[in-house]
Amino acid sequence: MVAVAWPMEAPPMPPVRVNRPRRAAPADAVRPTRAEVNLAAIRKNLHAVRKLAGNQRVLGVLKADGYGHGAPAVARTLERAGIDGFAVALLEEAIELRDAGIKAPILVMGGLYGNACDEVLSHDLTPVVYDRGQIEALARAARAAGVRARVHLKIDTGMARLGVREEELPGVLSTLHDLPELEVEGLMTHLACADAPTRESMDEQLARFDVATARVREAGVAFTTRHAANSAALLRGAPALGAVRPGLALFGLSPLDGGPSLAPVMRVRSEIACLRRLAAGESAGYGWTFTARRPTVLATVPVGYADGLSRSLSNRGSMLVRGKRAPIAGTVSMDMVMLDVTDVEGATVRDEVVVLGAQQGPLGRDEIRATELAELAGTIPWEILTSISRRVPRFYREP
Ligand SMILES: *Cc1c(COP(=O)(O)O)cnc(C)c1O
Repeated sequence: MVAVAWPMEAPPMPPVRVNRPRRAAPADAVRPTRAEVNLAAIRKNLHAVRKLAGNQRVLGVLKADGYGHGAPAVARTLERAGIDGFAVALLEEAIELRDAGIKAPILVMGGLYGNACDEVLSHDLTPVVYDRGQIEALARAARAAGVRARVHLKIDTGMARLGVREEELPGVLSTLHDLPELEVEGLMTHLACADAPTRESMDEQLARFDVATARVREAGVAFTTRHAANSAALLRGAPALGAVRPGLALFGLSPLDGGPSLAPVMRVRSEIACLRRLAAGESAGYGWTFTARRPTVLATVPVGYADGLSRSLSNRGSMLVRGKRAPIAGTVSMDMVMLDVTDVEGATVRDEVVVLGAQQGPLGRDEIRATELAELAGTIPWEILTSISRRVPRFYREP
């Protein structure tokens, strides 16, 4: 294995490969419920992110299977579009990308390498480190393999989750200074409040990051880049440090109100499986939490909480049928949900039902965003996307 330096220029174009993202095989998709991933929208969002990042490098965050979109396909799209590198949470996620043929630098942020330091090195990954045990284990593995390992050092500037705390910094720096097997390529920190109404907390953390950076320099530990910005920090114009780490923005969602226009990437759709008429006073679903107040038409749709449709949307959310909203009627069950389609004229079996995304139909055009579902379900759009389970096949579209 040859340790490759974090590229200071754009990475070389990957060799030409027949490398179309794998589509779910028809056999995987008997049920009409599926997630459509628009790869052109991902490229568009990368373009928007690049503009905001100026001349900083962009590390696309693809943890949790690329926020539910399918990390290998998303990574191939972004790599071909010239992204500078990727960041994931788990070593396993990084190896999945290497196995998929991804050549760009991959930062492993979670910091848990166990006794798999050899795997980190043999897959040419860039680990994030923050404690001496981890640093020494990596150095031993690098020495044994006869390579120099690049690492990024994480500083805790207030998230209090991972990272070297202020009082531990001198010890960690002297350890790093004495280990020639390790090259500290980057310094990083993570922001706790980048999407808060004001930027005060973000700026406070960035100021602490500057103080820690000065101490790294004083200790004679060289580094070539720094990064802190997630999507929110990037969108609200955090100062340029060298690199940025957006996740959500690449998938077309802004953690802030307003901001540049981004293109939603994921669309989840199904079809009406069957219809029934209820008389006023009849109830439906588990616990009979829905009772018809008038003669009602209910449509059963084969998507449930096991697919990622939060059960807290019971009697709250809606879906799109023929271009119009139809409210969820009753309790979301594991594999199915019922919609009240009484006011959706002409609704029939096999009509498309959109759970997430836009629909144009004979009755109009509407769109359901992950942000809207998150608000209704009492969560955040990140959780909506990462909850879409693996039994929903991903179909990749190149419109
Ligand atoms: C998830 C994550 C990001 C990306 O966050 P977004 O808000 O999705 O842009 C960046 N850095 C770290 C350390 C993360 O865990």
